[in-house]
Amino acid sequence: MAGRILIADDVATNRIILKVKLAASRYEVLQAGSVETLLQQARASHPDLIIIAQSLPGGGIKAACAALQADPELAHIATIAITPSHNREDRLAALRAGADEVLSKPMDEDILHAFARNLVRTRATFNELTRKQLVAREFGFSDMAAEFTRQTRIALVSNSRETGFIWRAGLVGRVADQIKVMTKAEALDTETEHETPDVFVVSASLAHGNDGLHLVSELRSRPAKRHSVVIVHNPTGDETLTIMALDMGANAVLSGDFDNKELMLRLRRLAPRKLEADALRKSLDQQLSLAMKDPLTGLHNRRYAQAYLSKIVQTAHAQRQPFTLMVLDLDRFKRVNDRYGHAIGDEVLVEIAARLKANLRDVDLLARLGGEEFLVALPETNHSEAVYAAERLRRVVGDRPIQSTSRGVEVPVTLSIGVFVSGENHDAGMRIEQMIDRADRALYASKTEGRNQVTFVKTAA
Ligand code: GH3
Ligand code: MG
Ligand code: MG
Repeated sequence: MAGRILIADDVATNRIILKVKLAASRYEVLQAGSVETLLQQARASHPDLIIIAQSLPGGGIKAACAALQADPELAHIATIAITPSHNREDRLAALRAGADEVLSKPMDEDILHAFARNLVRTRATFNELTRKQLVAREFGFSDMAAEFTRQTRIALVSNSRETGFIWRAGLVGRVADQIKVMTKAEALDTETEHETPDVFVVSASLAHGNDGLHLVSELRSRPAKRHSVVIVHNPTGDETLTIMALDMGANAVLSGDFDNKELMLRLRRLAPRKLEADALRKSLDQQLSLAMKDPLTGLHNRRYAQAYLSKIVQTAHAQRQPFTLMVLDLDRFKRVNDRYGHAIGDEVLVEIAARLKANLRDVDLLARLGGEEFLVALPETNHSEAVYAAERLRRVVGDRPIQSTSRGVEVPVTLSIGVFVSGENHDAGMRIEQMIDRADRALYASKTEGRNQVTFVKTAA
């Protein structure tokens, strides 16, 4: 199924003709004959797209769109308004009501299909984001505070700077946004998160022919701009070009003379959704990083360490390479807290994490297992290399006291280490937990032997 479409039209023959056309493209098609049944159907079957006839009983496009937007469950469903004839006022009224697209009769079938493909695809992206958010919630992450609504950054990429400035003059003061006139090259150059425009308005014919379309596909292929809204201006109104632009990933196409009012209405609908999706994506990233990181030291947590370790083990086995696992525990750390206070204890943990990290390679794993205990995994590291590495880590902590910046005291701390080297411990088939457990027992030996030392798991004879 390509998507689920609800056709809302009071004339049964209109519905049937449309249904046949859409079903041929493998859409699942539902029908409604009034605003009231449209809402019932929408609630019951959550379509991806609703096609609404202007003559729909119960208030037509305006009432239908208003009701959809008033319901948070339905507000994100895409809509195409069908007006009885080509008329600018009707078109703008439908966009103002909140329709995503407008088609007038007689309907161009190819354009209808291009609109449907485009809107269903956008809806699928949004659905995926909300689904991830729901999963995150199920994992116990609370929703992050939504980002403050910031200004929308708009880039106008026209065939000449003069035209760009004319476009701009029509928008300035009417939308509280940051509007820049750019060349095609400048549009492609914006890379950082803070300068990437939220919206690109692109003229279909830039320097030559379909240069604007080339820009659309370039924008869609760049990670930083993939999520930006792209609106294409198609001055000739050529339908093939409109369809190509939509299929390349443009969110909307303005056909014919540049219509400021229409652009404003499009922006009002598309821009807030883009910002909302950005905020959602950002909050998911934050949740993910919370799930994987220890908040005090910024190191990976136990959960991440276990997943990453299994990758190290897999690679090591596949490539017949050794690897080394270490468990590190600070000595008599309770006394540090007792003597200097918990806040200084925390500072010491942060500094030790930094020292350990600075003495490991990028490919090594450093994680805080909890409390004052750390885990280190060194891929492609054999016994003799592990001896050096463990000694280095022990000394980088024990040789020099930690300077507390907050109270200006010096805190001497030492570290005990237990080491497991794979490949020499008959560990084929051994589970990761067992390897950590072996390292832990070696650590215990370091403690009982007087602390501030390294113990290797005894090689099985
Ligand atoms: P040992 O040499 O045998 O490891 O002695 P120890 O005192 O380090 O061992 P024990 O496991 O008895 O105590 C660990 C202490 O680490 C208990 C707690 O006060 C301290 N600790 C654990 N997590 C934190 C933390 O996040 N911040 C601070 N400041 N202290 C912590
Ligand atoms: Mg300890
Ligand atoms: Mg401990």
